[in-house]
Amino acid sequence: RPLVGVLAVQGDVREHLAALELAGARTRTVRRPAELTDLDGLVVPGGESTTIDRLSRLFGLHEPLRARIADGLPVFGSCAGMIQLADRILDGHAEQQTFGGIDMTVRRNAFGRQVDSFESDLHVEGVEDEGRTFRAVFIRAPRVEDHGPGVEVLARVDDAVVAVRQGNLLATSFHPEVTDDHRVHELFVRMCAAARVADAR
Ligand code: GLN
Repeated sequence: RPLVGVLAVQGDVREHLAALELAGARTRTVRRPAELTDLDGLVVPGGESTTIDRLSRLFGLHEPLRARIADGLPVFGSCAGMIQLADRILDGHAEQQTFGGIDMTVRRNAFGRQVDSFESDLHVEGVEDEGRTFRAVFIRAPRVEDHGPGVEVLARVDDAVVAVRQGNLLATSFHPEVTDDHRVHELFVRMCAAARVADAR
């Protein structure tokens, strides 16, 4: 079983750990650079991207994580985690930095104040589907405003892009960790297992 870390500086860490275990991974919380070594994958949880950014830099995780991403480590970011995987952000804080890796521009809190939170039934490309939609929970969610040709769109709400993949990086505007449907985590665990096999070759 792949060993998948959850960046545990802020956000809904516990929910991701539980979902990953149910999706077939071994798990570890990550707060220190040393805890990044030997991981098969990492989740950047939902929460507050500005806080995740600030604490990651404070704990010396920013540069090592960027290096692991450049190296091909599979990473899944949900909501704030999606923001942190974007090469470019809109409506971020002045000093906010992202880990980057996905060639996209993400707007924070993009669905407006009137609709802080909503749910939607989506088709998500790449999850085990059989016609069954995925109940997606959006909480002050970001959206992908534009992306490069290497980015695959996995899901949309109306016109808004809300799930993407680029190579070993996966990101969703919504929170698959808060429902008991673990198909997005299963997709990510499969990505981690596949990357490990490719690495061993
Ligand atoms: N609005 C938050 C941010 O900008 C993300 C919200 C979430 O992760 N639920 O970081």
